[in-house]
Amino acid sequence: MGFASSMKSVADVDKSHLCIGCGICTSIASSGAVDLKLGQDGFYHPEVLDEVGQEWEKVKAICPGITLRQTIEVQTHEEKMWGPIKGIWTGYATDDEIRWHASSGGGITGVLQYLLEKKVVDGVIHIGAEPSNPLMNATFISRNRSDILRQSGSRYAPAAPLVNIRQILDSSNEKFAFVGKPCDVAGLRAFLEVYPHYKSKVISLITFMCAGTPSMHGTEALIDALGINKEDVEQFWYRGRGWPGRATVIRSNGEQVSMSYNESWGKILNKHLHFRCKICPDGIGSIGDITFGDAWEEGSGYPSFEERAGQSLIIARNQQGRKLIEDAVSNGYLSVQKYSVGILDKIQPYQRDRRRLVAARLFALKLSGTKVLQFDGFNLLYNAILISPKANLESFLGTAKRIESRTKFGCAIYLTAQFLNELLNKLGLMKRSLKKILNFDKSSSPA
Ligand SMILES: Cc1cc2nc3c(=O)[nH]c(=O)nc-3n(C[C@H](O)[C@H](O)[C@H](O)COP(=O)(O)OP(=O)(O)OC[C@H]3O[C@@H](n4cnc5c(N)ncnc54)[C@H](O)[C@@H]3O)c2cc1C
Ligand code: SF4
Ligand code: SF4
Repeated sequence: MGFASSMKSVADVDKSHLCIGCGICTSIASSGAVDLKLGQDGFYHPEVLDEVGQEWEKVKAICPGITLRQTIEVQTHEEKMWGPIKGIWTGYATDDEIRWHASSGGGITGVLQYLLEKKVVDGVIHIGAEPSNPLMNATFISRNRSDILRQSGSRYAPAAPLVNIRQILDSSNEKFAFVGKPCDVAGLRAFLEVYPHYKSKVISLITFMCAGTPSMHGTEALIDALGINKEDVEQFWYRGRGWPGRATVIRSNGEQVSMSYNESWGKILNKHLHFRCKICPDGIGSIGDITFGDAWEEGSGYPSFEERAGQSLIIARNQQGRKLIEDAVSNGYLSVQKYSVGILDKIQPYQRDRRRLVAARLFALKLSGTKVLQFDGFNLLYNAILISPKANLESFLGTAKRIESRTKFGCAIYLTAQFLNELLNKLGLMKRSLKKILNFDKSSSPA
């Protein structure tokens, strides 16, 4: 599905608003041909400085703004919705400091601790706060407990963990684990297919459920709302140090200022999401070996206001991921308990809804002539028919409205969709009025 074959360059991906700034094209293209720059919109963009040349075909097969592929076939309703599941648990890192410092239960960092301390890997490639500017993200190679502890916690801002991946893998015979967003992991998985000789160096691909990346303007708005100058920020974290944890700034005078997760994510950051995230077929993170997430409250699907000891949701996507969780548990790094896939709908309502609505959004893009992701194996149509035609049409309309201004065809699609929506509303109204009349007739007729 999609018009991916018409992508001619990384600039094309960027112009189509499909570049999420993972950075892998800068690593594949010949030295210095592509750079990654933070744009005015607060997101990373590739800047083409020289001919990408014959490497373009490889970039095209790897870039998660062009192609996303899930190769594991699934059969059950739950797996069509939530991706392959070879094991599902809730759990936490047994190291209390890691559990407290991390985003949820420290599941990711607990697994990384096992991998490093048992010498399964030599390093972990992942992101964390840039030391000289704690509002920005940077990519790190962590080699011990204090490194992974420092990088633990979610960073709700653009991050490019793959920017030097090929150079890192080329520079030694070391083995690595990688942590990234689902789109980063999809890029790395595809990279390993195109360059299979790196497979022996990348031992584990770890990801998390991802609602989307907010631009740097989201972080700036958050800092503003805390009433602080950017220059006055000594340390900054989005959450963690408890569950869900508060977005916190430590000022240069040592004063600590914070706001709740519900305010920071729910009222500020999620207003700044990337367009690519709205049409993301894999925010559930089905392409990694293991997906982590928040094991939120079953009742509401959102965090409780009361801070508690964190609980991670843990899903093994393949046998390798399952074995890694089992090994981390049997070596005492993780504590887990079995979980039911049936509850996912209740604890991850945002992921559930986007998964069902994304086919309509992608269809709107496709019809408008906008270049679309090429994707395979995500069962999006199966999920789309689980919700009403009206919800699908509204989702279609929302996307069409966003692209309306971009093309003449987009405008035509928007107007047609709006007309259909009006028609559907009118039909709904007529149906309700008819029902009322019939009920009136019934109630007024003698028994
Ligand atoms: C942008 C974003 C959106 C998210 N959306 C959801 C969601 O919809 N539902 C849900 O359940 N969970 C979501 N999460 C994940 C959640 O916040 C936790 O990261 C997850 O529950 C794992 O917790 P943990 O305690 O096991 O991780 P930790 O032990 O704290 O480890 C977190 C790891 O993630 C890496 N990381 C942090 N931020 C980024 C980033 N921006 N890009 C790449 N790597 C990063 C760190 O380097 C670290 O290794 C999101 C996270 C991010 C960053
Ligand atoms: S590889 Fe990553 S950074 Fe490069 S164009 Fe694709 S999404 Fe953007
Ligand atoms: S929502 Fe999808 S595209 Fe956006 S950052 Fe997350 S995985 Fe990447």
